[in-house]
Amino acid sequence: MHGWKRSVRGPGLTDTMSRYLIRRIEQTPNIRLLKHMEVVGLEGGDHLEHVLWRHNETGETERKDITHVFLMTGAEPNTAWLNRCVALDEKGFIKTGADLSSEDLNTAEWFLNRRPYLLEASIPRVFAVGDVRAGNIKRVASAVGEGSIAISFVHQLLQE
Ligand SMILES: Cc1cc2nc3c(=O)[nH]c(=O)nc-3n(C[C@H](O)[C@H](O)[C@H](O)COP(=O)(O)OP(=O)(O)OC[C@H]3O[C@@H](n4cnc5c(N)ncnc54)[C@H](O)[C@@H]3O)c2cc1C
Repeated sequence: MHGWKRSVRGPGLTDTMSRYLIRRIEQTPNIRLLKHMEVVGLEGGDHLEHVLWRHNETGETERKDITHVFLMTGAEPNTAWLNRCVALDEKGFIKTGADLSSEDLNTAEWFLNRRPYLLEASIPRVFAVGDVRAGNIKRVASAVGEGSIAISFVHQLLQE
């Protein structure tokens, strides 16, 4: 049986992963979770041969013979080009619907007598769906579903 190691920089997985994925990891006997551990080096010639990691509490570094690494390092929305155009949250995701505060709408000079619809950004008739939207749950089904909801709003707006 192959042994798998998963290292996380913090004290556990709960801040960074969905519960169902954490359960899968916990229930898989050949995965060992290394907490407070940060990968600090990858070494090899034609292929990966060693991985170095550091214990973030003790500062101790270890070098292990490992030939395969899978990275899961999080996601950053590619929205820098949108800033000052539509309201973004502090992480750069696009705010929509009820998530838009009065301050957001004042800053964006929202000019309609109604509040933004579900999925509508701080510019009237601009919609955001999927991973890039603040509050989206980062699943294929939700991205597809939000897309179809946005299209129904587009049809509604074309009638107004
Ligand atoms: C490793 C991994 C595993 C996953 N596993 C699952 C899973 O098992 N089940 C599940 O439901 N979800 C899973 N997800 C999440 C799922 O992939 C996303 O929720 C889904 O793809 C979101 O769709 P989207 O259309 O919003 O964004 P994306 O699929 O990210 O599509 C956005 C597109 O926009 C393009 N783009 C970006 N910037 C610009 C720009 N300026 N101009 C033009 N195009 C641009 C990008 O290149 C990309 O093609 C996983 C995600 C990852 C990373």
